[in-house]
Amino acid sequence: MSQIRPRGAVAPLRRPALSSRRPSVDAVVAALRPEEPLHCLRPQAVTTAARAFTAAFPGDVLYAVKCNAEPTMLRAIAAGGVAHFDCASEAEVRLVRSLFPEAAIHFMHPVKARSAIRNAWQQHGVRDFVLDTDDELTKILQETGGGDLGLVVRLALPKGNAAYDLSGKFGATPVEAAALLRAARPHAARLGLSFHVGSQCLDPAAWTRALVLAAEVIAVAGVAVEIVDVGGGFPVAYPGSEPPALAAFMEAIRAGAALLPEGVRLWAEPGRALVAGGASVVVQVQSRRGDALYVNDGVYGALSDAGAPGFRFPHRLLRLDGAAAEMTRVFTLFGPTCDSADVMRGPWTLPADVAEGDWIEIGQLGAYGTALRTAFNGFDRAHVTEVSDSPMLATPGYEVAAPARAA
Ligand SMILES: *Cc1c(COP(=O)(O)O)cnc(C)c1O
Repeated sequence: MSQIRPRGAVAPLRRPALSSRRPSVDAVVAALRPEEPLHCLRPQAVTTAARAFTAAFPGDVLYAVKCNAEPTMLRAIAAGGVAHFDCASEAEVRLVRSLFPEAAIHFMHPVKARSAIRNAWQQHGVRDFVLDTDDELTKILQETGGGDLGLVVRLALPKGNAAYDLSGKFGATPVEAAALLRAARPHAARLGLSFHVGSQCLDPAAWTRALVLAAEVIAVAGVAVEIVDVGGGFPVAYPGSEPPALAAFMEAIRAGAALLPEGVRLWAEPGRALVAGGASVVVQVQSRRGDALYVNDGVYGALSDAGAPGFRFPHRLLRLDGAAAEMTRVFTLFGPTCDSADVMRGPWTLPADVAEGDWIEIGQLGAYGTALRTAFNGFDRAHVTEVSDSPMLATPGYEVAAPARAA
């Protein structure tokens, strides 16, 4: 049997030895002068976001592990009061169980390998499984032992206006979902209905509309339902995309939940909202050609969402030797691989004299940044460090970092 290098098998992030446990980004760059991407983790920001979400949400909060599975981030989320994890693969289940022997793990991928269901149930104590077809219900019933089994039916939603539409791939229609609830009821110690409005959804009313539909499906099914899972999709701020406050989303959820049968417990599966502020990546400019900057990370690294999906990220120039120009200019970034799709159009506003050797810190990359790195073209080496800086939020124009002094 031949072995190929799995796409996900990227080089481990390397932790440089630094004198202070949590230095500033500027201090790390000054000490390291990194020629490879530098991931700057802010676990304290993740704990703060997790604490705010668990305090505001009227039910159980399940962290969607795929968004960022770094153990440092998972521990920061747990420190913020999150005791439930939404996993989509056996590897995610194993990772979460290795870190948190007591955590409740929920297997929320509607199409699972039989071995993944069996091992999750037998070896890792997973008790809740999602499904959107009769076939998956049969698989789950055959591979688990009955008893304390939680079954959650995933409901498809009409296409909404989230940045990422998640309606095209999974989910049962309302009619199918009602039939699945009836079919699952006799086997379930807990029965639930779930949906996902789409990722980075800026419209709180999307949750109210989804809950109205969920209430209708439950009424049509005519069976008792213990859980309604309102999914993820809670947005964060990016340049040009300023979401309403978290409270507006909670209000919209309460309004919709009022239509559900008495006693239904709510779950949510936030990913992005908990971890986005938890990491930035410092890239280095390796070449400038007019308005194009060739940098050492790109869409096959931590900047996937800055490519075709067209997300914009807060950013700032870091120059160690001397001040940068006050005039700004708009640039396009190219990543290090040979693929012409490795381009991030931004626009990136930076000092007009940005040059080879400068660094750019790019913020809000804790969500779907590190998690999407690949080893394509050999560009998988990166440093990681924990920093004391606050999250980099949407910046209007640009800020130039004060030149950091090497110790
Ligand atoms: C990706 C995903 C999430 C997390 O979505 P965010 O937009 O990051 O909050 C939650 N639930 C399911 C089923 C998902 O696929």
